Amino acid sequence: MADFVQVLDPGHGGDDPGAVANGLREKDLTLKIALYARDYIHELYEGVKVYLTREKDVFVSLIERANFANRLNADHFCSIHINAGGGKGFESFIYNGNYPNKPKTQALRNVLHDTIVSETNLANRGKKEANFAVLRETNMPAVLTENGFIDNPSDAAFLKSDDNLRKIALAHAHGLAKAHGWKAKPNKQPSPQSSSPSKGKVFYRVITGSFENRENAEQCVKELKAKGFDSFIDVYKK
Ligand SMILES: [Zn+2]
Repeated sequence: MADFVQVLDPGHGGDDPGAVANGLREKDLTLKIALYARDYIHELYEGVKVYLTREKDVFVSLIERANFANRLNADHFCSIHINAGGGKGFESFIYNGNYPNKPKTQALRNVLHDTIVSETNLANRGKKEANFAVLRETNMPAVLTENGFIDNPSDAAFLKSDDNLRKIALAHAHGLAKAHGWKAKPNKQPSPQSSSPSKGKVFYRVITGSFENRENAEQCVKELKAKGFDSFIDVYKK
């Protein structure tokens, strides 16, 4: 079966910074979230190819973004933005017109929206519709996420942390996977250690996970430490 083609669209870029406040620029945050989300999806799921409408700080017009996805004949388009204008929390948009795949577009959006709200704890501002060019001009189901308000002090504080940008990215990965029914990759287990414990004593090691991505391993250690288990990362090369 052909790979599922997911396009991620980091909003703004280059001369267009998007919303700017509290020392943050929308274009930087959307790019980080999209890059992290791409890595998470490729790491965690089988049979999915993620393409980004931009991978660095460059300007790409709205119509070029839609055309990019149309040329790829993508299965789904997800545009990633940060909000501004005096609100607080998360909202998502689909195109407000009448179109044949609207029920499907809506269903996919609902799953993604609910997953992001529950995993990020951003306030839920609701599931919305709008006449946005990237949503209107794309041929496949398309969604646009607005991940917090850059001009709200508590959302901005949340967005300043790279861990939280990763959390938003992972929530997009999980939500898209759930919406599209992507298959998780099997966990790779390290082979048993060959060295025997010293001084005749027997030790029993507990391995909680094996990760291809160092950040994921660090996150696991952090969670274990928070629960009172001492743990460390052991680097294992194949
Ligand atoms: Zn934006």
